[in-house]
Amino acid sequence: MSNQMTAKFRQCDIALPNQCILKCKMCNFWQNDLAYEDPGWLGVEEYKRILSEIRDFVDDPFCVSFGGGEPLLNDKLLEAAKICRDLNFVTSFPTNAYLIDQAMAEKIAAAEISSIGISLDSLDRRTHDLLRGKDGCWEKAVSAISLLKKYRPALSVNILAVIMGVNLGGIIELARWVYAHPDLHGIVFQAIQKPFNTSSPDNWFELAEYAELWPSDRSAVNAVIDELIALRRSRDRGFKICNPVSQLEVFKLYFSNPKGFVKPRRCHLADNVIRLDSFGNVIACEQMEFLGSAKEANIRGILYSSKARKIMSSIHNCAKNCYHLVNCFYDGESK
Ligand code: SF4
Ligand code: SF4
Repeated sequence: MSNQMTAKFRQCDIALPNQCILKCKMCNFWQNDLAYEDPGWLGVEEYKRILSEIRDFVDDPFCVSFGGGEPLLNDKLLEAAKICRDLNFVTSFPTNAYLIDQAMAEKIAAAEISSIGISLDSLDRRTHDLLRGKDGCWEKAVSAISLLKKYRPALSVNILAVIMGVNLGGIIELARWVYAHPDLHGIVFQAIQKPFNTSSPDNWFELAEYAELWPSDRSAVNAVIDELIALRRSRDRGFKICNPVSQLEVFKLYFSNPKGFVKPRRCHLADNVIRLDSFGNVIACEQMEFLGSAKEANIRGILYSSKARKIMSSIHNCAKNCYHLVNCFYDGESK
């Protein structure tokens, strides 16, 4: 988030409420009450106003990415996506696919979503269901691929896979399966991080309760990532592996020394991305003050305020060894 009016914002990340129906071992969002609705959460009309304000100062292509929790649990998702479509924004969201049946696939098609990431950690259904905490998740994820493409052939469907201890042995097989799958655009890998919504300490990966998540065999994890790098270099379109080689190299550093791992560059967290929580707060980094409330003020004014300038300066100078920059907010070379 540069503070000159010439700044080029490429993306807006909209966080929907952190509610979920699965019980993943790497995330405790499912502990939040599914029936709860906060009166402070943004409504469809507020999304419409804020997105229209954003339209006034961004160029195409501009992507709006929705997150959660499970985004499909929230009925505002597809309404907000339609608003984005009308504003000529590209849209995307990740999903565990558990709610995708024919009716949902038709609704997603009607909203003309551009890209979806389906969580699938293993081709072994027992491993995936064990990690995701619910029987039938694997089946839902795999059958959603063709269902989504049936109703919206232009949709880009990607697999999102977290590299963990328990699925490490199947990672290459999964990458090869995606490469051969005619309906899949690609696969995005993430390195397992401290489970979301827990109070676990920073050395969580040393705790017995997470033994199956953390890949403790360093030579095995290095061998798998080296093979991913070789595959990525072996074919056009990088064998459909979306992570750049430089990020896969960062995964190796991170897995070999998570305590000593050093973020690749200065934190760029909000350089080009506008981040909005479910209450309309404009966020740069969760560990810092909000820039302002898009409910109460024009978002353009918030992004270019002197307060935003101060917070951005703190972000650029942040010395924390932050794991955010390994996965979703990796911004190294795109090789
Ligand atoms: S990781 Fe995703 S699917 Fe799993 S509980 Fe969290 S939000 Fe739900
Ligand atoms: S804690 Fe620091 S390094 Fe991590 S995301 Fe925030 S500003 Fe960036």
